[in-house]
Amino acid sequence: MGTTSLRRLISAAVLLTHPWASLADVAFTHPADICSNSTTWKQTYDYIIVGSGAGAIPMADRLTEAGHTVLMLEKGPPSTGLWGGTMKAPWLEGTNLTRFDVPGLSNQIWHDPAGITCDDFPYMSGCLLGGGTAVNSGLWWRPHPDDWDYAWPAGWKSSDLVGATDRVFARIPGTTVPSLDGKLYLQQGFDVLSKGLAANGWTSIVPNDHPDQKNWTFGHATNMFEHAERGGPLATYLVSASRRKEFTLWMNTAVRRVTRIGDYITGVQIECGGPSSNVGTIKVTNQTGRVIVSAGTYGTAKVLFRSGIGPADQLNVVKNSTDGSTMVSSDQWINLPVGYNLDDHVGTDIEIAHPEVVFYDFYAAWDTPIADDKTQYLENRTGILTQAAPNLGPIVSKPSRGRRSLTVDELIIAAQFWEIIHGTDGIDRHLHWQSRVEGAKNTSMTITQYLGTGAQSRGRLTINKLLNMQATTAPYLHNDADKAAVISGLEKVQGYFKSISNLTWIRPAPNETATHYVNSIPATPDSRGSNHWIGSAKIGLDDGRQPNGTAVVDANTRVYGTVNLFVVDASIFPGMMTGNPSAMIVAASEHAAEKIMKLPFPKTIISKRRKGAARHVSPAL
Ligand SMILES: Cc1cc2nc3c(=O)[nH]c(=O)nc-3n(C[C@H](O)[C@H](O)[C@H](O)COP(=O)(O)OP(=O)(O)OC[C@H]3O[C@@H](n4cnc5c(N)ncnc54)[C@H](O)[C@@H]3O)c2cc1C
Repeated sequence: MGTTSLRRLISAAVLLTHPWASLADVAFTHPADICSNSTTWKQTYDYIIVGSGAGAIPMADRLTEAGHTVLMLEKGPPSTGLWGGTMKAPWLEGTNLTRFDVPGLSNQIWHDPAGITCDDFPYMSGCLLGGGTAVNSGLWWRPHPDDWDYAWPAGWKSSDLVGATDRVFARIPGTTVPSLDGKLYLQQGFDVLSKGLAANGWTSIVPNDHPDQKNWTFGHATNMFEHAERGGPLATYLVSASRRKEFTLWMNTAVRRVTRIGDYITGVQIECGGPSSNVGTIKVTNQTGRVIVSAGTYGTAKVLFRSGIGPADQLNVVKNSTDGSTMVSSDQWINLPVGYNLDDHVGTDIEIAHPEVVFYDFYAAWDTPIADDKTQYLENRTGILTQAAPNLGPIVSKPSRGRRSLTVDELIIAAQFWEIIHGTDGIDRHLHWQSRVEGAKNTSMTITQYLGTGAQSRGRLTINKLLNMQATTAPYLHNDADKAAVISGLEKVQGYFKSISNLTWIRPAPNETATHYVNSIPATPDSRGSNHWIGSAKIGLDDGRQPNGTAVVDANTRVYGTVNLFVVDASIFPGMMTGNPSAMIVAASEHAAEKIMKLPFPKTIISKRRKGAARHVSPAL
């Protein structure tokens, strides 16, 4: 082979393993001068996207595919090996894999979250490249039609989302069998529960083949993993975006606020963090540039508040913080209900034990993996470590009812099962049960009931004077019919499990009623939280600036009262979905990309701004 061919082969291999190597514009850190000087960059972008999570990445891909220049700003560090991540278990040294790549290490976030979880929100999260999709367990569900049809506005019904959803699942199909040998490992827990459900007339399904069958059905966990690695948006959409000259990504770069003249967004200000940091300004393309905030439910609300967009009480908190002297003046504030409509899956953990259930110590796999399991994973991508960590590790002792052990997504996963409860208020509520091998005994299974589509309770997200976000009103079980559905679902499961021989109940205790048990668990994020936060910048046709209006963004995901500011992430979700949210967020992003690109830039704005109108408020919006 000639030298040229060899060189070509090597560079093709580098591009395959490091797609960003093809471009000069993927930077692991922000340019060094940001911290020392306040800079205004000359380069402008058609779109600036704030964040790099489930909502952001597909958007960047679609926009660059259409030829628009995009700058993506992520406040955290790189995550998976593909993107230059370096955080890894000792046995991964010398490989291109990080802790985020290996499904069997996905629970490590609970043991060692420093530098990964967001430091301005008290609950578990992912503040790094990929956002939640870099740290989660990759549970990946095609949405039930009701997930769109129940609460979303016109233009966002399940029939409108068919194309977007198909595109997502064509790129990220997900799998119920991650191991490349086609085997599922340690499925005793699944077998125990599924036999019991089948005996009661429930039907076994491949969940993503039948997204509309979510009543009296059960199936295996479906994960976004590919080639027994994390996969998902980081391994698909971001790769294709990064191969385009239109795409620029800066990591370790936090956006402080959008800069605006009235309703027109001129760009973003970025900050390095720390009290003495200076900031820099990056502008969008004059007249036609746009900013898309995709910083997640709490990150987006925070950016909006700091940009003078939100309820007056929250903007006054920002005004009285370190931001105060540079905040947009109060006559430019846009009064929108940002932070209201906060929701999260209500999680209710129950626990059973069965002698056939086998526990695997995924936590030990960090330092001392079982040699055969390690070899199988590294050499063939087979074995137990290809599956998302279920487990019981050193940090899980006997979970009490007051505090959940670990979040369900990180402790995966045996049977998944679904039931729809007809609510006492006439509204159907979807229950998704997720089981995993962990609990007080080595033969325990903890099963979390998620209250999803149809849930009515909402909370409120606020900011404090240190500019940290908090769920000041937790979104769990304020509504009687929500609580009745949770109790009814549990009563039914107590009945179904009677047919499983040798099963013992741990939580609730054998003679405890479902009502007593559900009432005994505090309705707080610590006890009920699922890390599926949504809703702080709700989409809707009822403009939140008007009396009784509840929406922050319109059906094109544009923030009411602005010309060129959009929100695309979990914040816009008007209500809860059936299963774990990330696939639905990616589909929403695909759909929003189409809408945003079709949206003409209002001619009135262009002409008035050309004439130098500094503070135009468009009546047409
Ligand atoms: C531990 C855990 C496990 C989970 N398990 C699952 C699961 O198995 N399946 C599933 O479907 N869902 C799961 N989820 C939920 C899912 O990951 C989230 O719902 C989803 O990632 C939210 O997408 P998003 O785009 O709204 O925000 P995110 O994915 O959170 O992305 C927001 C990004 O914006 C960045 N950012 C924030 N503020 C700024 C700023 N000012 N400047 C620049 N960047 C900023 C953040 O660092 C982050 O990278 C889990 C979540 C967690 C935390």
